[in-house]
Amino acid sequence: MPSNGSLFDRAKALFLHYAEPLQLNKRYPDLQLAERLTSPDKSITMRLSLQMDDGRVEVYDAFRVQFNDDLGPYKGGLRFHPQVTFDEVKALALWMCVKTAVVNIPFGGAKGGVTVDYKRLSITEKERLTKKFAIMMANDIGPDTDIPAPDVNTGPREMAWMSHAWRMARGKYERAMVTGKPVEHGGSLGRVEATGYGCVVTLLEAARDNGIDPAGATCAVQGFGNAGQYAALELSRHGGRLIAVSDSRAAIANSSGLDVEALMRHKEKTGCVADFPGSKPIDPMEVLTANCDFLVPAALEDAITKEIAPQVRAKIIAEAANGPTTRAAMDILFNKGVIVVPDVLANAGGVTVSYFEWVQNRQEYFWTHQEVIERLTKRLMDAYRRIRDRAREERVSLRQAAYEGAIERIAMAAAERGAQ
Ligand code: NAD
Repeated sequence: MPSNGSLFDRAKALFLHYAEPLQLNKRYPDLQLAERLTSPDKSITMRLSLQMDDGRVEVYDAFRVQFNDDLGPYKGGLRFHPQVTFDEVKALALWMCVKTAVVNIPFGGAKGGVTVDYKRLSITEKERLTKKFAIMMANDIGPDTDIPAPDVNTGPREMAWMSHAWRMARGKYERAMVTGKPVEHGGSLGRVEATGYGCVVTLLEAARDNGIDPAGATCAVQGFGNAGQYAALELSRHGGRLIAVSDSRAAIANSSGLDVEALMRHKEKTGCVADFPGSKPIDPMEVLTANCDFLVPAALEDAITKEIAPQVRAKIIAEAANGPTTRAAMDILFNKGVIVVPDVLANAGGVTVSYFEWVQNRQEYFWTHQEVIERLTKRLMDAYRRIRDRAREERVSLRQAAYEGAIERIAMAAAERGAQ
C-alpha cells in the first residue's frame, strides 16, 4: 500500500487495507462493494466569487463531497482554510463515513470546504462568504439530504449564517439542515465542547485499560482551537496537567502545568497562545515529542510523520484532529507500543452531538445539558469498548478494529439496499 501519494489516495488505501480481512468480495459477490465504498457518490466543485468590502472581487474554490449515504443522510463539517483542496475534502468525507458508522448513528459521510484565508476577511466578508456558500448549495443540502456542521475556522456563528441563508433560499424553517448552531437557533447544549469532551472520554477509557491514572497525568495538545481547548479543559478537570500546547502561530510549555481556562481567555483575547503568563516559548515540534502521558493532536492532517513518530514519548495518543498520523507513523507507534485512539473514534463526539441536535430539531423538543452529556458519554464508551474488545481478540490496533466494525456496518447496508 502507498505510504505517500495524495491524502485521499492514502485514506482510500487504508480503508481497503482494513477491509481486506472482511473479504467483502467473497461475502457479497458481484456487488463491487470495495469500489463503491471508496469512491464518492457525488462531488460538487464550485467557483465562489466574493465581493470584498472595498468593492474588489476575489475568487475561491469551494467543494462539497457527498461520499456515501447508505446509512443515512450525508453528514460532515465545513472547513475554511487556505490549504483546502478537493483531494483533502474527499479524504475528510471518506473518514466521516467511517466515523458515523463507528458510533452507530444514522448518517452517511460528507465534507465541505472553501480554499480561503478566512482569518484575513472582515466580519462582513466572512458573513457574505458563508451565506453565499449556503445559497450555492441550497438544493444539495438539507435535513434529509446532507447536513453540514463546523470544522476548522467555522463554528456556531457560521452555522447560524448558513441556516439563515438556506431559509431565505428555500423559504422555510428547517433547523435540522445544519448542526453546531448557537443554542438560540436550535443548537444543542453541549455541542461546542462535544469533540474535545468526547476525545477525553475515549482517552480516559484507554488510560484505565492501561493502568494510567488521569489525576496527575501530563498532556500535550497540538492545536488550541475548538477541539484542542475543550480536550485540554476536560483533562484538567480530571486532574491532568497541560504541559505543552501550540497553535498555528506559537508553541508554549510549563512543566508545572498551564491553567487551561486562563489560556482559553488569553487565546480569545489575543488570538494566539504566545506570551501566556508563566509559560516559555518552545519549538512547535516539541509539543508532539513532549515527555508526557497523553498527546492530543488537534490541528490538521499529517502532523505525526514517520520522522516524528520515533521521538513521540506519550503513552497514549488521542486523535482529536482528523488524519493527524501518517500511515508510516501509525506502524511505528504500534510497534513502539504507543496506544492510539484513532480519529474516527476519538473525535466522534462532535458528530454524535450533531446527531442529537438533529434529533432535537426534528422533534422541536430540547434536552438538558446533562441529558446530552450522559448520552454522549454512554455512546462513546460503548463504541470504545466494542472496538477495544475486537482489537484484543484479533490482536490488531484500535484503528483497525474501528475500521473493520464500521466497514462491516456500511457494507451490510449497501448490500441490503441492492445493487442499483
Ligand atoms: P479550529 O479552527 O477551532 O482550531 C484549529 C486549531 O489548530 C487552531 O488553534 C489553529 O491555530 C491550530 N493549528 C493550525 N495549524 C496548526 C499547526 N500546524 N500547529 C499547531 N496548531 C495549528 O478547528 P477545530 O474545529 O478545533 O478542528 C481541529 C481538528 O479537529 C481538525 O482536524 C478537525 O477536522 C477536527 N475535528 C473537529 C470537530 C469539531 O467539532 N470542531 C469535530 C471532529 C473533528
